[in-house]
Amino acid sequence: MKQLDKESFNSYIENTARSVIKDYRLIEPGEKIVVGLSGGKDSVLTLYILSKFMDDFDFEMVAISIDEGISGYRCEGIKTARKIARDLGVELVEKSFKDEFGFLLDDISDFYKSSCIPCGVFRRTLLNKTAYQLGADKLATGHNMDDEIQSFLMSFARADFRRFIKFGPKLDKIHPKLVPRIKPLWKIPEKDVGIWAILNGIDVHFAECPYSHTSLRAKMKDHLNRLEGKRPGTKIAILESFDKTFKFDKIVVELGECELCGEPSSLRICKACEMVEDIKNRIVIPE
Ligand code: SF4
Repeated sequence: MKQLDKESFNSYIENTARSVIKDYRLIEPGEKIVVGLSGGKDSVLTLYILSKFMDDFDFEMVAISIDEGISGYRCEGIKTARKIARDLGVELVEKSFKDEFGFLLDDISDFYKSSCIPCGVFRRTLLNKTAYQLGADKLATGHNMDDEIQSFLMSFARADFRRFIKFGPKLDKIHPKLVPRIKPLWKIPEKDVGIWAILNGIDVHFAECPYSHTSLRAKMKDHLNRLEGKRPGTKIAILESFDKTFKFDKIVVELGECELCGEPSSLRICKACEMVEDIKNRIVIPE
């Protein structure tokens, strides 16, 4: 088997991310970029890449870690996030579901078909709220090419066209309190992110979340990996079709503010507050 050349591989990773940032104008000079840092390989690579590009693209950076409250899993990721942020000299702001919402994900996991449903809602809300409080212009996430294709096909399969606005490497600012997301790894396959971490001996948190098997995403991921194994190039073809076919700016989503928490929402009461109210009625939260 041909040996991978670390330098060429690193150049490919950097150049791919750099061209996404340039081509899609993810970052403007003088901006403050907040990075969602879980300690997993994707968010760690995002922080590494952006810290390399800070001078070239002229921006400042802060990282946020969210502790969802997943026993034996997230605490290890947060330890990694702290170390990586310290090594790269990036300020790390830590938040938790427990402090913000009053419960751990473990406390409420039985209420849902998949724990990923409340996890995603609460994490997105807390990331946006914290990024906004920090005065961020953009929120960078570690979404790689596989994540994007899975999300797209999941929305497609559910005929959830309103979600199409959330795809693409950069989301528009559609509400003053909604920090636009950017995805520097948008064209990098997940397996290449893993190779980057191993080749460079980066100490990332590789463990799998104990709830991940409950999600539709996990099934979609398996399916796509099998398809890619049989027909290499399928994933990039899906991403390209999707990029060329859908015109995101034609889908208009109007956001107001949640009457309870004030966060941007398309509904009178946002999904996070609706879930919190429901959860409060179902559990006795320990002091
Ligand atoms: Fe949350 Fe699901 Fe990801 Fe686990 S796999 S961290 S439950 S979204």
